[in-house]
Amino acid sequence: SSVYAAPGEKGSVAQYRARYGHYIGGEFVAPVKGEYFEDISPVNGKPFCEVGRGTAEDIDRAVETAWKAFASWRHTSPAERSVILNRIADRIEQNLEAIAVAETWENGKPVRETLAADIPLAVDHFRYFAGVLRAQEGGISQLDENTVAYHFHEPLGVVGQIIPWNFPILMATWKLAPALAAGNCVVLKPAEQTPASILFLFDLIGDLLPAGVVNIVNGFGIEAGAPLASHKRIRKVAFTGETTTGRLIMQYASQNLIPVTLELGGKSPNIFFEDVASAQDAYYEKAKEGFAMFALNQGEVCTCPSRALIQRSIYDTFLSDGLDRVSRIRQGNPLDPETMIGAQASNDQLEKILSYIQIGKDEGAKVLAGGERVDLGGDLTDGYYVAPTVFEGQNSMRIFQEEIFGPVVSVTGFDTYDDAIATANDTLYGLGAGVWSRSADLCYRAGRAIEAGRVWTNTYHQYPAHAAFGGYKQSGIGRENHLRMLDHYQQTKNLLVSY
Ligand code: NAD
Repeated sequence: SSVYAAPGEKGSVAQYRARYGHYIGGEFVAPVKGEYFEDISPVNGKPFCEVGRGTAEDIDRAVETAWKAFASWRHTSPAERSVILNRIADRIEQNLEAIAVAETWENGKPVRETLAADIPLAVDHFRYFAGVLRAQEGGISQLDENTVAYHFHEPLGVVGQIIPWNFPILMATWKLAPALAAGNCVVLKPAEQTPASILFLFDLIGDLLPAGVVNIVNGFGIEAGAPLASHKRIRKVAFTGETTTGRLIMQYASQNLIPVTLELGGKSPNIFFEDVASAQDAYYEKAKEGFAMFALNQGEVCTCPSRALIQRSIYDTFLSDGLDRVSRIRQGNPLDPETMIGAQASNDQLEKILSYIQIGKDEGAKVLAGGERVDLGGDLTDGYYVAPTVFEGQNSMRIFQEEIFGPVVSVTGFDTYDDAIATANDTLYGLGAGVWSRSADLCYRAGRAIEAGRVWTNTYHQYPAHAAFGGYKQSGIGRENHLRMLDHYQQTKNLLVSY
């Protein structure tokens, strides 16, 4: 299959508007202060559209609009909301290619991934919540002969949602689907690096929702995010982003005593036990693939398996086979369906990764692969490409402890099961982990012993809508996905009736 034409070029399946305002009350509106900022494609390092630069005034307007819409949205039945969420899923599916190309252009991730994973997962997520919202039941308890307690679920009202740039469409979906299913109205602030793909999406699906149910205010963290998270009239903040920002979000929310869900950073261990290498078979191929998963989405995944722990008895063999697998990750134009690793999402992110690569070298870690920026030449010469990088060092090093959020893995060895678990848990984070062994017993024990909300055994990077996802320790508070997510967007009303 051939390379997709870039948005802006003739014949592209995805054409962006030259300028987007905020999406408030079912239409695109100019920002109150009239200011816009440039959206840059990491594919070639060039601006491709302008987006409204939101301020507290825009947030006020969006929150007010959302409350007006809530007056009728709150009375929709689960069946009605389910129909709407299913229609959104269908519309996304019908436009899958266009949305995938739009997101690739804005984020730099390969179209191979957006076509096969990001957008199909978003579709499935809307369908999942369209289904489970109808399965949610309240409850009745009889307290004595004449007294009954009814438990009802009620929406919270207007909720604020703030998301990062690494999976623009999917992160928006993870937030919107459960909030809408539960009957809330939303003010969403996308990341300033990737607002346009979400606005592109709302150009396609906006008409399926009553005006004002979802409102999108663009802009920067301090200018638009902080006024949203600290707004007196929102009833909850759902945030995905860095742990340091998460602390601020909690402070803002505490001013109004509203609940938060926080999906934060990670430094996920990927543990390879010695029986992995006991045969050169399909399982072994899968394990090597699992090692190379650190480069998926250019490493810009909160659960990136960024620390590989390899048992010493197989250390040399497995590492050299793993490096061979890494050398075959094809880097190139993200719009080329053959490309497996594309561009980092922004210039800031590129620089952050390069600075961590320098930190690793300065700490005395050994570079076994990559370790530098890549120039793809031609039109892509200014794009933000980093070679998949493998470091060897110790778990105490900064490159093992701090989130780099790039295609960088830090490898170390371990002797015993206990050493592996101790090293895996020696981190501030607790989001994801991988365990590779042919022994179901070992996988089970390690899976239970690792302090993380999601442990994959003999697989990695799967995100089904019906598996609860979230962090231990400084990786977050609360969970996303799964039926239980509705609890995070609802009040429990207890109506105690004496007959
Ligand atoms: P970030 O915290 O810098 O920004 C995230 C969002 O918060 C953006 O929309 C930003 O504008 C906004 N923001 C920034 N400062 C703010 C403030 N003071 N008040 C309100 N809003 C503010 O994070 P990022 O660099 O965009 O995203 C990468 C991070 O996200 C990584 O740490 C990654 O691990 C994490 N992440 C976590 C998950 C998860 O589910 N746990 C998923 C994806 C990404």
